[in-house]
Amino acid sequence: MAGDDDYLALLNRAKIACPEITENHERFELPELDILQEGKITVFRNFIDVTDKVRREPEHLLQFMLKELGTPGNVEGRRAVFKAKISPQAINDKIQMYTETYVICSECGLPDTKMVKEDRTLMLECEACGARRPITVRKSVRADTANTLREGDVIELFISDVGKKGDGVGKIYDYLVVVPGTVKGTKIHAKISKISAKTAFAVPTTEPCTR
Ligand SMILES: [Zn+2]
Repeated sequence: MAGDDDYLALLNRAKIACPEITENHERFELPELDILQEGKITVFRNFIDVTDKVRREPEHLLQFMLKELGTPGNVEGRRAVFKAKISPQAINDKIQMYTETYVICSECGLPDTKMVKEDRTLMLECEACGARRPITVRKSVRADTANTLREGDVIELFISDVGKKGDGVGKIYDYLVVVPGTVKGTKIHAKISKISAKTAFAVPTTEPCTR
C-alpha cells in the first residue's frame, strides 16, 4: 500500500523528534514464553514476566486466557497453571490476541498504553502518541463454541424432569438432554449420541466427563 511509506516516514520523523520515548521500544517483543506440559497440566512458567512487560494485572490476563482456552487455572507465584493440556502455540496465540486488544496502540504500535474507563466504555490510551481508542474484544471461535454440545461429549447432567415417554431429561447450556433409563433427581454422566437442534439424546455412562 502506498500509505505505508508515508506512515513509515512519519514514524521515522516521530522517532527523531522524541527519541527518549521510542528508544526502548523500537520493536515490541514479549519475553519468550516458557511453557511446560506436565501430564494434563500446563505450566506457563514466566507468566508474570509477560504481565510485567505489558504492564497489566496478572489477574486480567489470566481471566482472558481461561475464557479463551476454556480451561480452569490460576496464578501460582510467577507462574500460571492451566488444568488442561494446552499447546505452547495456543498460549502464544492468546497472548498475541490479548496484546492486540488490550495493550498495543493501534496508531503507533507501541505498548505504552493504559486502560481507562470513559463512561461505560473501556478505552486504550497511548502515553506515547496520545491516541485513544475503545477496546473492542473480538469474539473468538472458542468462546462461540464453548457452550455447544457435540456428539460423543460426556457431560455431567442433573435429571431434573421426566419427558413424555418416561425418559429422564436434564438441561445443559441451552439444550434439553433426553436420557432413557434415568430417574428424576439423580446426577449422572451421560454420553451424547445424537443432537437435533437444541435437543440432545444421550445414554448413561461411567466414562469421565469430557467437558
Ligand atoms: Zn500510540
